[in-house]
Amino acid sequence: MRTWTRRQRTPHLIVATVLLTLGATACLPTLPIPVPVPVPTPSPTTSTSTTTTTTALVLAKATCASGSTVTVAASIVDDVQNLLDAAAADRVLLCGGGYRTSDAQIAVRKANCGTTYYDIWLKPASQCTPPTAIPGTSMHEKGLAIDFINCSTQTTACFIWLKGHAATYGLINLPSEPWHWSTNGY
Ligand SMILES: [Zn+2]
Repeated sequence: MRTWTRRQRTPHLIVATVLLTLGATACLPTLPIPVPVPVPTPSPTTSTSTTTTTTALVLAKATCASGSTVTVAASIVDDVQNLLDAAAADRVLLCGGGYRTSDAQIAVRKANCGTTYYDIWLKPASQCTPPTAIPGTSMHEKGLAIDFINCSTQTTACFIWLKGHAATYGLINLPSEPWHWSTNGY
């Protein structure tokens, strides 16, 4: 007998691989290059008073009715000038000391707190007479505080006027010091 062997024919699949060659430069992402942002230059104050700069702090002078001046940060000089003018209009003549250098703050600490390293740099402000901020932490050093003269107690005309009006001009009293007014009460 003849045995027929069916020869299975396996279809030969020809797999054509199509290689696509992409252009080497086509898909490179473009990274953004940082561009330096220009720092805005603060516009000069419109005050007629003189302006000086120490490091980043811009100072300006407000003029008291007496003709003396109070040096404060330029950012608040208009408010301070308006306060002085309003007080003068009410016949209350205000003036005092505002900005204080760090050296001046050290001198005040020596006078009010003592002269040792601890006295000047570490002793709590409340333990000085009168209380005096540690150098580097005083609002006077930022030009944001004023010590008004003739304002030593809460019964003075100075204090009474400021109590009624200073908040309008952005100044707040430190309760332990009737003469000391600043933008944050410290
Ligand atoms: Zn003060």
